[in-house]
Amino acid sequence: MQRLVIFDLDNTLVDRQGPLADWVSAFSAQHALDDDARLRLLQFVRERACPETFEAIRNQYGLAPSAATLWRDYLAHMARSVTCPAHVLEGLSMLRRAGWKVAIATNGTSEIQNAKVAGAGIADHVDAVCTSEAAGVRKPEIVIFEKAAAACGVDLAHGGWMVGDGVDTDIHGGSAAGLRTVWISGGRPWPGGDTAPDHVTTDVLQAIDLLLTTPSRGHRDGF
Ligand SMILES: [Mg+2]
Repeated sequence: MQRLVIFDLDNTLVDRQGPLADWVSAFSAQHALDDDARLRLLQFVRERACPETFEAIRNQYGLAPSAATLWRDYLAHMARSVTCPAHVLEGLSMLRRAGWKVAIATNGTSEIQNAKVAGAGIADHVDAVCTSEAAGVRKPEIVIFEKAAAACGVDLAHGGWMVGDGVDTDIHGGSAAGLRTVWISGGRPWPGGDTAPDHVTTDVLQAIDLLLTTPSRGHRDGF
């Protein structure tokens, strides 16, 4: 199996939940939203946020700023708030020094996902970033994994690894794409389903350590 690893971005390499909660708090205070409105606001952006989301938010709350302005403010907040721990960045560099191709496959618009990758300092530590907008399909569609591999100059048909916190998007999708999988549990129990992950780790650093040490365990996975 070739040394290709594809990482998810949100809540895998970076924590999205914390910066998102901070944004909801700040936005609610700025626009004097009550507790019910604040809960609905979180529901608007919890799964994904894109320019159209802010059209809906503007209409819902009768806000004066344009949807484009609201989107740009959200984009700026997330880009400056999302961080990747230094030891994870170092882990990505160690993988590349060990001969791994390192890609990110992430669902979302290119504008915000690339802004987060740059803002968190990840861009220089990976070979490629493939967003669902750029790929034209979202995870768990196999095409996005193929495009992430191709962006690294390798062929998905030769295998690799998918690392992420998403059960369907990352684990079921990665497995269907022929990849071995590491599920980032964050302490959650595996919910079951058709395809179990090959490995479960609490966080992404443990997953990186697993990849770095697996070849020295006697090549049991066919490295
Ligand atoms: Mg995720």
